[in-house]
Amino acid sequence: MSVSFDVAQSDRTSAARTGVLHTPHGDIPTPVFAPVGTQATVKTLTPDELHDLDATLILANTYHLYLRPGAEVIAKLGGLHAFMGWPGPILTDSGGFQVFSLESLRRVSDDGVVFRSHIDGSEHVFSPEKAISIQEQLGADIIMTLDECPDPLDRDYNRVALDRTHRWAERCLKAHRRSDQALFGILQGGVFPDLRCESARFLTALGFDGYALGGLSVGEPKAKTWEMLDVTVPLLPLDRPRYLMGVGSPEDLFEGVERGIDVFDCVLPTRLARNGAVFTSQGRINLRKAQFAEDPAPIEEGCTCYTCQRFTRAYLRHLYKAGEILGLRLNTLHNLHFLLDLMRRIRAAILDGSLGQLKQRFLATYAAVEDSTGQRAQALSRRRSKQDTAD
Ligand SMILES: [Zn+2]
Repeated sequence: MSVSFDVAQSDRTSAARTGVLHTPHGDIPTPVFAPVGTQATVKTLTPDELHDLDATLILANTYHLYLRPGAEVIAKLGGLHAFMGWPGPILTDSGGFQVFSLESLRRVSDDGVVFRSHIDGSEHVFSPEKAISIQEQLGADIIMTLDECPDPLDRDYNRVALDRTHRWAERCLKAHRRSDQALFGILQGGVFPDLRCESARFLTALGFDGYALGGLSVGEPKAKTWEMLDVTVPLLPLDRPRYLMGVGSPEDLFEGVERGIDVFDCVLPTRLARNGAVFTSQGRINLRKAQFAEDPAPIEEGCTCYTCQRFTRAYLRHLYKAGEILGLRLNTLHNLHFLLDLMRRIRAAILDGSLGQLKQRFLATYAAVEDSTGQRAQALSRRRSKQDTAD
């Protein structure tokens, strides 16, 4: 069975739509937020907990799994779904972003990209054909083309990189064999509307199962991110899913959904949780702060997640301070619940025509934090060290 997409309802006052992405491992109601499980695990949670949180799509990372434990090992053990014990839909990225953003990059040419493993320094090559073959071994429901991810503000380089990304996209399409996997093309072009539009036209002419907007949320001004969506999304076919890579703060989900995005992923909720930062309807709070030391309230009054049903801010702060693993788990449960619940409300609001009101109500109390598109930017600009490359 292949992957297909049905749009059920479109918003009257924006480009938002809700629908269902059908995959061999289950249906995904859209718009959807996909928690990130870089190393074939969403850090600290079991697959059953993810299921109970209503996660329907998980993202796993080709670069990391290729290096460790190896795509052959995972294939031998029945593929990624069996290996990680997650029976639902999975999306793998192509590894391009990690190769270009970690300290691993060595050379890029039309043939592919040469990089060094962040684990043992060994040299490897990703060609478009190799990126597809690895993803076919992993066996995710949705896989991605290999793309080059340049500095979004460097026009000259984006010109060169875009041509290469397009040639790679053609080769990925040709190399792709498994009919039970959807292959998404990745648009690039930095913050330049003409390049972005060219990318949309080129890739839609090739014909992919879905389209991803790559190279955004990597440090460019947020207004530019939304401008790139404004110019490119209208060029994409209505009957194919659109995926905005690396975006997932609550306020950004509204912006993306209103512009017609169907799929989001971001390390933000899980990474923040492990740093003691949790979402509330007032904005993010950090449980490390002394003000929560004797706070008897849950993270969020009225939140139906396991953490808020049972535990106080004071206890969660104590767990953080004491370095207890349970604290990381409880914070992660709450943050994912918060985002997945928000997406549920967004889908319901699109269906009953109240998305504008929901956004207004949400943003009336939610204090956004500036760094929300900075998660991937950190990876690009700081050239992160190996420990921090995983979600
Ligand atoms: Zn909660």
